[in-house]
Amino acid sequence: MPKKRAVSAKNAEPSVKLSARGVARLQGRHPWVYRSDVAEANDVPPGSVVRVHDLRGKFLGTALYSSSSQIAIRMISHGSVADLPALVAERIRAAIAYRKELVSNTDAYRIVFSEADFLPGLIVDRCNDVLTLQILTQAMNAAPVREAILRTLCDELQPAGIVERVDPRIRELEQLPPAQSGLLWGQKSSTVFSMNGGKTTGPKTPDDETSAIRFHYDGVEGQKTGAFLDQLENDAAAAQYAHGEALDAFCYQGGFALHLALHPAAKCSSVTGVDSSRPALEMAEKNALLNGRELEWIEANAFDLLREYAGAGRRYDTIVLDPPAFAKTKRDLEKALGGYKELNLRAMKMLRPGGILVTCSCSFHVSTADFLKVLAAAAQDAHKSLRVLENRGAAKDHPILLNAPETSYLKCLILSVSN
Ligand code: SAH
Repeated sequence: MPKKRAVSAKNAEPSVKLSARGVARLQGRHPWVYRSDVAEANDVPPGSVVRVHDLRGKFLGTALYSSSSQIAIRMISHGSVADLPALVAERIRAAIAYRKELVSNTDAYRIVFSEADFLPGLIVDRCNDVLTLQILTQAMNAAPVREAILRTLCDELQPAGIVERVDPRIRELEQLPPAQSGLLWGQKSSTVFSMNGGKTTGPKTPDDETSAIRFHYDGVEGQKTGAFLDQLENDAAAAQYAHGEALDAFCYQGGFALHLALHPAAKCSSVTGVDSSRPALEMAEKNALLNGRELEWIEANAFDLLREYAGAGRRYDTIVLDPPAFAKTKRDLEKALGGYKELNLRAMKMLRPGGILVTCSCSFHVSTADFLKVLAAAAQDAHKSLRVLENRGAAKDHPILLNAPETSYLKCLILSVSN
């Protein structure tokens, strides 16, 4: 018997059929379906827009198809899609409008956060007049879609430059040809942005100017998309409680450290930043100078340094821990929890009574419940009591799509530590 073809003769659009489990995921409003739950996908070209059906042929919506990722289906609409570039443009405009409602006093924020903005595979950050985009799927990389992205960003935001950041590992997974990070449009790939003080809308007052904390930004250099904007609201929150001698471990380019030193609410007598990356610390130092301050920056493995300082009886009043994701996959979970426990235990021991611990985890695989459990276990071993001042996540410009838990990854606890 000839194999039934999934491509409908009527409109010649590629289509797929999902298993019952795949259908259940979509009914749960999760935008992803794994390859193992795709029952039929014949002759579907990489990166195409596909009509999605159940096994009986009932239409469920439209998705972007990946021929190589385990996530074969990423839903883009619960209806039909006639023109993907036009839909992408519309969604980008909607994402910009969403930010207008909730982002204030910064000119640096995430404009598009992939699934959480119904644009699977697209990330766009704005740092003042430079936009940085990351394309993570075959469908978003198609030439007409890329053109629509650039045109919409230019029309809506009039940037001085648009930079593409390439994640080579993801391009390989998506079987996209290798590409280099670099300027896609305009002249400018580096700039200075302000946060927590500098308004982007309305007239600037002298107060905005004096309280804003400024950062250098280079869209082509640095880690991830160059700046950890997800911590922006946590930086300001930490400053509300910070006092005395402060240590920012895993400081990168000084996000927390500069807030602890410069934010009007913070009352720190000294601030030291620690990171293992020399380029990150060089930028941190430049950032401090940009704001007219000199701070202490130490290049070290934070695990070793905390062990050494704790052993030598060093004490602090405020400690920030913002390590990289220890659990990149589920398999790393146990080891990751051990790493978080060790770091937090040492920090708790080094804090004076009434000290403030700002402790973060950006591992998606470590849930908030896991993280709280680890902190409680560390407190027990350190003979300390913890009171939760704030239990926070990523800034509002990194929305969480509630039915897609993968969009929620950052945890930031602000704790008061007592003996
Ligand atoms: N707090 C920063 C972001 C930190 S990202 C901000 O808000 O901007 C994690 C940082 O940890 C990176 O800068 C990385 O260079 C650093 N890092 C990774 N492993 C480290 C280690 N063992 N010791 C010290 N720093 C480390």
